[in-house]
Amino acid sequence: MVKNHKITINLCYYKRKISTKRRMSMDIFNKMGEELTNAGIGIAKVTKEMTENAKLHASITAEEAKIREQYRIIGEKYYKQCKNTEQEELLSEEYREAFDKIAISKWKINEAKETLADRKGSIICPECGARVAKEAVFCSKCGAKI
Ligand SMILES: [Zn+2]
Repeated sequence: MVKNHKITINLCYYKRKISTKRRMSMDIFNKMGEELTNAGIGIAKVTKEMTENAKLHASITAEEAKIREQYRIIGEKYYKQCKNTEQEELLSEEYREAFDKIAISKWKINEAKETLADRKGSIICPECGARVAKEAVFCSKCGAKI
């Protein structure tokens, strides 16, 4: 009987010990779960913020492009308003430089267009490589039959 009683006490002791261990491990699990949940919330927040940041960057880029387009429109209007008027004569040095650059570019465009038009209406002599009119029968440079 005494022995049995001792065994019962011992069993109770182990049960308590086990349940304490289990409680501790449950606490650890709960804590881990909590931390994981917090980490999950943190990651979700960071991801959401990253998405929002990307949208904000895209919005800034889009608005900057709109501003540049408006600057371009203002510039073109100002250019046309000044071109070939008294205003062009009165331009300050910084505007003068831009007007000159536009004039040079327009000249280059015209040159290129003229070259393309000439090439369209002519062919290259297979003998000497000279450019001759499409309808020519003989090359004007080397006299070869075309
Ligand atoms: Zn030729």
